[in-house]
Amino acid sequence: MISQKLLIVGAGCAGWTAAIYAARAGLNPVMITGMDPGGQLSLTTQVENYPGFPDGILGPELMNRMQEQAEKFGTQVSNEWIRKVDFENNPLSIETNKSIHYADSVIIATGSSTRKLTIPGEDVLWGHGVSACATCDGPLYRDKDVAVIGGGDTAIEEALFLTNFAKKVSVIHRRQEFKASRIMIESALKNSKIEFILDSVAIEFLGDQHVGLSQVVLQNVETGSKNKLDIDGCFIAIGHVPNTKFIVGQISLNRQGYILTNEFQETNIKGVFAAGDVQDNIWQQAVVAAGSGCVAALAAERYLRNF
Ligand code: NDP
Repeated sequence: MISQKLLIVGAGCAGWTAAIYAARAGLNPVMITGMDPGGQLSLTTQVENYPGFPDGILGPELMNRMQEQAEKFGTQVSNEWIRKVDFENNPLSIETNKSIHYADSVIIATGSSTRKLTIPGEDVLWGHGVSACATCDGPLYRDKDVAVIGGGDTAIEEALFLTNFAKKVSVIHRRQEFKASRIMIESALKNSKIEFILDSVAIEFLGDQHVGLSQVVLQNVETGSKNKLDIDGCFIAIGHVPNTKFIVGQISLNRQGYILTNEFQETNIKGVFAAGDVQDNIWQQAVVAAGSGCVAALAAERYLRNF
């Protein structure tokens, strides 16, 4: 049985940063990328708030650069995804779709995934007009009518991006106030292609897999009245859920399912650290994820020194 010193799980901002630090510290880390390498940044377009890029940088490009940097220092990358873990015994073990890995320490950086509405029509029309990635699917809606659901930065960013293609973008939000930052809302208000439908929730998607999405049924939360909006595409941007299903019962999670960590990115299991959005339900910023990845790698190195 070959046991690695350090396994890093999840190839997003936190994971790659941890890999860069761990590789430079001579820990020969192995990166298990998971199904969606690049994490949330691979689904975004221009990132304007990552320090060091005054003109912005495309999310996928930032991820590629981080990977290149991690590999340059000796990170071994493996495209596998986790099925289950056993953190009760030592070495720690992680079973993937391809093999079982053993390690003295593990950094979990599996991030979070798009939250779904769980309303009728959502699953059947997913990929047939209903989407969570404007970057990926936006160009399909040239001169069409689309909607974005949500009132956070992601929703407004997606709406602004979609105006590059769509004829009209309706932002559907369940209340009057927005979580999104003022600067984003101001840009959206100035954009003549964007209209806001407030105090409203989507309760059903109509259409079929052949013709695609045709309408969304909306309900006003104040009056209860319902109406149908004709749309060709709908982008759901209502936040995220942490990717922690594979460790339920193995590690302490908070009520929303995020991993509990301390200031050293330690979990309740010795030798297991967590970094990035999988343990952050507040900030969810690339630079914060990178910072926590750095801390996790430094703490893992200190742990392994005394192992
Ligand atoms: P947020 O949690 O900030 O916003 C989610 C939005 O979806 C809220 O407006 C919420 O409504 C709404 N919502 C949640 N559940 C439902 C539901 N079931 N039905 C209808 N609406 C729902 O998530 P984001 O993904 O927007 O942002 C996450 C983090 O990433 C934030 O910290 C954000 O600042 C950051 N971010 C930063 C960007 C940038 O700086 N360029 C770009 C994108 C994201 P309500 O307000 O009523 O709770």
